[in-house]
Amino acid sequence: MREDKIFNNTEIAFELKSDSQLERAHFLFKMISIEPLVRIGTAVTNFALKAHLPVEGLIRSTVFDHFCGGVNEDDCLDIIDKMYTKGVSSVLDFSVEGKETETSFDDAMEKILKIINFSAEKDAMPIVVFKPTGFGRFYLYQKKGEGKPFTNAESEEWNRVVARFDAVCKLAKERDVEVLIDAEESWMQDAADELVTQMMQQYNTEKPIVYNTLQMYRHDRLDFLKSQHALAKQSGFYLGYKVVRGAYMEKENDRAREKGYDTPICESKKATDDNFNAAIRYMLDHLDDMSLFAGTHNEESTYLVMDLMKQKEVAIKDNRVWFGQLFGMSDNISFNLAHLGYNVAKYVPFGPVKDVMPYLIRRAEENTSVAGQTGRELMLIKKEKERRKQVASS
Ligand SMILES: Cc1cc2nc3c(=O)[nH]c(=O)nc-3n(C[C@H](O)[C@H](O)[C@H](O)COP(=O)(O)OP(=O)(O)OC[C@H]3O[C@@H](n4cnc5c(N)ncnc54)[C@H](O)[C@@H]3O)c2cc1C
Repeated sequence: MREDKIFNNTEIAFELKSDSQLERAHFLFKMISIEPLVRIGTAVTNFALKAHLPVEGLIRSTVFDHFCGGVNEDDCLDIIDKMYTKGVSSVLDFSVEGKETETSFDDAMEKILKIINFSAEKDAMPIVVFKPTGFGRFYLYQKKGEGKPFTNAESEEWNRVVARFDAVCKLAKERDVEVLIDAEESWMQDAADELVTQMMQQYNTEKPIVYNTLQMYRHDRLDFLKSQHALAKQSGFYLGYKVVRGAYMEKENDRAREKGYDTPICESKKATDDNFNAAIRYMLDHLDDMSLFAGTHNEESTYLVMDLMKQKEVAIKDNRVWFGQLFGMSDNISFNLAHLGYNVAKYVPFGPVKDVMPYLIRRAEENTSVAGQTGRELMLIKKEKERRKQVASS
């Protein structure tokens, strides 16, 4: 039987939030539910940061503090420890984007290596994550994916990208820490996929350590999963996949329209949902060969994973199935799942305020009234405020 309505328990969902934090979340979600405000706010903020206007304080006390753990790893520790008291693990996410120098790529790799060593000693952090474009230039992935020949300098640069992936995956295996690799825009993703498959082949020989990401808003991803499964069986390695819907839909559709090719995105939200759920089913049908990290804020998809686990008699704590949400979103799913004993981890983004802006903008955009997440967050926050008021007055 489905454990209906468990995600509506706001007492469990917001147990870690003080009244003032709840009030701030209420204000924030109300603001970002207004689409024109997000659009104008984004443009003004980007301009202000470029012009070095003193807006960092304002960003910090609003969106940043809600969606990020801090500007560095140490800032996040308090949050990580607190969430773990409720059974929710953390995936520290160095969310700096758009930096394209060799130094920044090396720094990002060093940071991830440090986080792996730290995670190996800390139960609250069983998994780490990085973005392909954190380790190499977007253009290089794109050129490689398009099969265009590299110059000598580019070949050397690419070898350094491969070496960064390898250093991280190798240490992850040595320290027995799982590593998720995010997926980005489709026109750079082919090269990233090839590289991650190479890493899986090398390091997932005993169990899944390296996880790629499947963006199920892409209509080709189920076939991709099946072909990777065939390869993994043939070559004798395990697959690990974070399954998400995908965060770059508008950018994908705009580019396809501009350049005149068919969009890689499913034709409707329903088609994406069906595709997502099909991938979940496929993976849970083949759990002996692969592990699943379901990265979603969608309640129906989460229920589906729970139902299928039950049907297939997969233990709630089976390490091959994880649920993931982003910090600052869908606490009702994370904390209620953890309360029941499921494996749950929240991405906890960190980095200097101006460098995490692209991440924050994506979060604001997906929380507008158009995308539709906010209604639920607001409803739950209001419900919890009301519940606390009643408890206080009784
Ligand atoms: C732990 C975690 C890790 C993540 N990692 C990544 C990552 O590596 N790469 C990445 O791209 N994203 C990543 N995301 C973001 C994710 O892809 C989604 O943007 C976000 O989670 C919203 O999708 P949802 O499953 O929560 O549910 P929902 O809110 O039900 O779905 C919204 C999503 O559906 C899709 N969609 C909406 N309208 C349409 C339409 N008209 N046609 C087709 N599809 C539509 C879009 O993908 C949209 O984001 C991650 C999310 C989480 C929670």
